[in-house]
This record gives sequence, C-alpha cells and structure tokens, in this order.
Amino acid sequence: MDAAVTVTDLVVDRGRRRVLHGLSFAVPPGQVTGLLGPSGSGKSTLLRALVGVQVVRSGEVTVLGEPAGSTPLRSRVGYVTQAPSVYADLTVRENARFFAALYGVGAAAADRAVADVGLDDAAGQLVRDLSGGQMGRASLACALLAAPEVLVLDEPTVGLDPLLRVELWNQFHALAATGTTLLVSSHVMDEAGRCDRLLLLREGRLLADSTPAELRVRTGTDDLEEAFLRVVREQRTGVRA
Ligand code: ADP
Ligand code: MG
Repeated sequence: MDAAVTVTDLVVDRGRRRVLHGLSFAVPPGQVTGLLGPSGSGKSTLLRALVGVQVVRSGEVTVLGEPAGSTPLRSRVGYVTQAPSVYADLTVRENARFFAALYGVGAAAADRAVADVGLDDAAGQLVRDLSGGQMGRASLACALLAAPEVLVLDEPTVGLDPLLRVELWNQFHALAATGTTLLVSSHVMDEAGRCDRLLLLREGRLLADSTPAELRVRTGTDDLEEAFLRVVREQRTGVRA
C-alpha cells in the first residue's frame, strides 16, 4: 500500500539552529505511528512540517500523495497542537457544535465526539475553566469532527491520568481500524508500546523507524525506555547493540 506520509531528506532550521538534520521515512496508512523523543528533539517541528506550517530548508514532505500543506489536503489532514485550539469563551459542547457546523456534520456527532474524549461531564463548562488535559481533549474532539484521513496529534496525552490515557490510545486504534492514519507524538517512552510503529527522534535525527517488537529484538530488551537508551549508545559508538 502507498505510504500516507513520505518524508525525504527533510532539513529544518529554526532561528540560527539546525533542528532537523535530513530526515527520511514513510508512514503507512491506517496505523498509529508514534513519534517519540525527549523534549527539544524536534517532534513539534517535524509535525509542523507534515501539516505544512513549518518553513523547511530542504527536502520533501508528501501527504496522501500531495505536497504537505497544499490546498487539497486542507480537509483531509487534522492537526491538534500542544496549545489548545478551541475557543476559551465557549463551552465544550458549543465548541464541538461550532466545528461540527463548520465541517457539515450534525449536533449529534458533536455530542458524540465530546463523549468519545471523556468530556461528557464537562460539556457545559467554558473552555477557559478546564484543566490543561481537558482542553487538549476538547481540541481533539473538535479535530475528530472533520473525520480527517490523516490525524496529527502533538503530545495529546500529556497531563492526563493513566486511565484516560489508555482510553485515548484505544480510541486512536479504533480510528486507525477505520483507515485513519495517526501520527502521535510523545516524550513518554512508556507510550511507545502502544504504537503500531515508532519513530525515535533525538536531537533532530531519526534513531529508529520500526515496530515496538522489532526495536525490542534489535536492542535485546523488552523495556522500551531501555531500548531507547541502547539505540542512543549504539549511535554514539557506531556499533549496533
Ligand atoms: P519537541 O517538540 O520535541 O520538544 P521542538 O520541535 O519544539 O521539540 O523544538 C526543537 C528545537 O527547536 C528545540 O531546540 C527548540 O528550542 C527549537 N525551537 C523550537 N521553536 C523555536 C522557535 N520558534 N525559534 C527557534 N527555535 C525554536
Ligand atoms: Mg513539542
């Protein structure tokens, strides 16, 4: 099957610094691909490049066969940033219904999306009164209403309680099962095991592009946090672990 996202030799500078050092990879469709890496490794910058809002120095980013950020992709790619993308002075339900109207789906779909992200109890609250985790979920609910073919989520599970995190990951997989391609970033390695595929990023370089199972075999450990450390060491010494 054709890749949903193809990145070739992507170089990005921010300010006077090189942030991404020539990345190349492909993201298969209908799966949850995790973009894992420590804070500052370039995850957000990479996701910005995928949705076409990042100036790139060189290289190519293709999404669903089109150049990233091009007009035909507008309704086909969803993006939830780390900053909330909902209106603070509307309630959760009002936000969802607003976006539902924008995307031409009904109020029932809006209410379902709110329930799907576990915000039923907070549906009547103003967004400005929500916790950070709740705001992130409100943004996610609104992005889901567009039913995008590719959904890019920047650290959607930060600050969530463990139960909710599990529920969200289940929801990501349910979406993937319907054919949606998800790219989900996280700096928490224990989320790596929940992904179908992993891209490990460190200091703007790709350390691994594999499945969790392949990474475990390659590094000889079941612990993905330890696996990440071994891949870092492997890269430093130039010797495969
Ligand atoms: P992550 O999302 O993995 O935490 P980012 O993509 O946000 O990483 O940042 C990667 C690098 O780019 C960091 O060194 C960060 O300081 C730098 N950076 C991020 N945003 C800007 C900006 N607006 N101007 C200059 N440098 C930036
Ligand atoms: Mg980030």
